[in-house]
Amino acid sequence: MHRPIYLDNHATTPVDQRVVDAMLPYFTEYFGNPSSINHQYGWEAEAAVKKAREILANAINAAPEEIIFTSGATEANNLAIKGIAEAYFEKGQHIITLATEHNAVIDPCKYLESLGFEITILPVQKDGLIDLNLLEKSLRSDTVLVSIMAANNEIGVLQPLREIGKICHEKEIIFHTDAAQAIGKIPLDVQTMQIDLMSLTGHKIYAPKGIGALYVRRRNPRVKLAAQQHGGGHERGMRSGTLCTPQIVGFAKAVEIALLAQKQESDRIIKLRDKLWQLLSAVEGIRLNGHPTQRLAGNLNISVEDVDGAALLLGLQSVMAVSSGSACSSTNIAPSHVLMALGHSEKLAYASIRFGIGRFNTEAEIDIVAAQVISTIQSLRRLC
Ligand SMILES: *Cc1c(COP(=O)(O)O)cnc(C)c1O
Repeated sequence: MHRPIYLDNHATTPVDQRVVDAMLPYFTEYFGNPSSINHQYGWEAEAAVKKAREILANAINAAPEEIIFTSGATEANNLAIKGIAEAYFEKGQHIITLATEHNAVIDPCKYLESLGFEITILPVQKDGLIDLNLLEKSLRSDTVLVSIMAANNEIGVLQPLREIGKICHEKEIIFHTDAAQAIGKIPLDVQTMQIDLMSLTGHKIYAPKGIGALYVRRRNPRVKLAAQQHGGGHERGMRSGTLCTPQIVGFAKAVEIALLAQKQESDRIIKLRDKLWQLLSAVEGIRLNGHPTQRLAGNLNISVEDVDGAALLLGLQSVMAVSSGSACSSTNIAPSHVLMALGHSEKLAYASIRFGIGRFNTEAEIDIVAAQVISTIQSLRRLC
């Protein structure tokens, strides 16, 4: 049977075959524990981890010792936010973040709020961008952390990292960014952007799920971080647990591949994205969510007026895998907090579709998808 066209590359991506090939020897042949310092098996694994660490550090203009491997961006965000809150408790208990952040940032902040920390959640402008004046005005002497994402996972909006970094560092406040959607897709430089902590993940860039990293600045300034997981003292004591060599090798390979052809891949994907938007925007009552140009190449997020969101998704499911404007947890269904932050009504938020175009999508697929979206909207509107 024919499977739907996969257009949900912001949720996850398939593993690139080149990444699989790079990983395979580390399951069976070079299976040693990178912490085993007494024999060759350990040394081989340690050498692979060292090389991967260098590749990742180079990708963001950091030093290898500043890369802490984690299980993904959720863990990296938790480590960054809780680890800073704990380490800088004496300095203050105020944290600033953004309304459109991923739950892996919002929820650790809410947890800290329940412990007595004060959290400022900045609203976004209509196009999803941060208001830099508002950020500047919100900084206080007891602010210990500003956490603002690099690229949004729903509407693709790219925040002005360089400007945010400058504002934070002028006041000597630590700047963390969740770059789960950005790594490999846009240039990232922790020096020129003055980023102190950066969360990364592999599975949005064709590496496997379950591997990520946190960049932690060691100089100008040296960032202190309280470990959130204790044990064997791996990763300079900041994240204990045996390193998963195959995933680490795969993550680095995926970053390497992404950086090699970043511009070409991004140009190709933008063409597909713009074609999809050109076809869909011909239909009345379809709006684009988020900034029209300051966004990820593969992202198109639209809201459709005068249709029921659930019916719309149902009409698309057999042809394409996309995400709707609702966020489901295992217990409830709610309109996306990102679309609500743009000022949408609940109904319009539900009637939204996120297209995430990736490396393996083709122009022929875009044509099929556009035709199906248009015909589904038209038949739903005829019904009411
Ligand atoms: C996917 C994603 C996460 C979570 O990453 P995991 O590696 O799946 O834990 C966090 N933040 C953003 C912006 C994401 O897109």
